[in-house]
Amino acid sequence: MLDDHSHDAPVALDLPDDDAGRKRTSIYQPEQAGLIFPEIPEFANHAEAREYRKKHLVAACRAFAMHGFDYGFAGHLTIRDPERPELYWTNPMCVHFSQVRMSNLILADHKGRVVEGRHAINRAGFVLHAAVHDEYPEVMAMCHAHTTYGTAWCATGRPLDMISQDAAAFYNSHAVIGASAGAVAVEKESGLSVAQQIGRNRGVLHQNHGLLTCSHHSIDDAAFWFIALERACKQQLLVEASGIKPQLLSEKTARYSREHVGSDYIGWLHFQTLYNHIAETQPDMFA
Ligand SMILES: [Zn+2]
Repeated sequence: MLDDHSHDAPVALDLPDDDAGRKRTSIYQPEQAGLIFPEIPEFANHAEAREYRKKHLVAACRAFAMHGFDYGFAGHLTIRDPERPELYWTNPMCVHFSQVRMSNLILADHKGRVVEGRHAINRAGFVLHAAVHDEYPEVMAMCHAHTTYGTAWCATGRPLDMISQDAAAFYNSHAVIGASAGAVAVEKESGLSVAQQIGRNRGVLHQNHGLLTCSHHSIDDAAFWFIALERACKQQLLVEASGIKPQLLSEKTARYSREHVGSDYIGWLHFQTLYNHIAETQPDMFA
């Protein structure tokens, strides 16, 4: 391990309530009540919660397709089942991200057994995700894919520099993992050593391999920060390639930015833009 920034404690922001007297936890929540704005849903039962999580997992896969994150069968996204948290929903092996739908998701246990669904599970995916979900009960969701810019930056073995407000979302919440770098994670021991470091960070740059994100909140949050992490790696590579020394954010500014635009809630909120677009333009996702 070359670098390890463990999660800083979240900061409670002191914000005025909205017009209707409802508590606000983010500066993005409108003070003016009655406007169209995404709300975190509340569920009457496990079935409703499960339906929501599955839909948002499918949309996350489709968002990965839109961003060109596919590489053959590589890449896996997981979200815990609300009723049986020892089981998790994931995308089926050898199905393109763009063709993942409600009816082909699979539900698996930590031994890699498919307990619901017809498709096989990605072995590398189950080893890594099961190890993280096992070690960190608070981790709700995880994403991994072999992306172009993320994998390229991971080869440097360096963490991200704080070159932008967007990169600051990962300030003190991402790590570079050198352990079992470049080895395909199909063996249990490899999954465990990497898992112990993944669970403590929002994003992980696994050297000579690729990016991973995990969330204590939702698949929406894990997927959005994955997209953001890939984009941050691309921007870092562009700056490096220019040969011009970048101006970096101060620690104070990076921390301030992360507190305001880098929370789990903000990850979830960003993803609603993608969810609504995909749900409207790709209705086959619900089939
Ligand atoms: Zn991989």
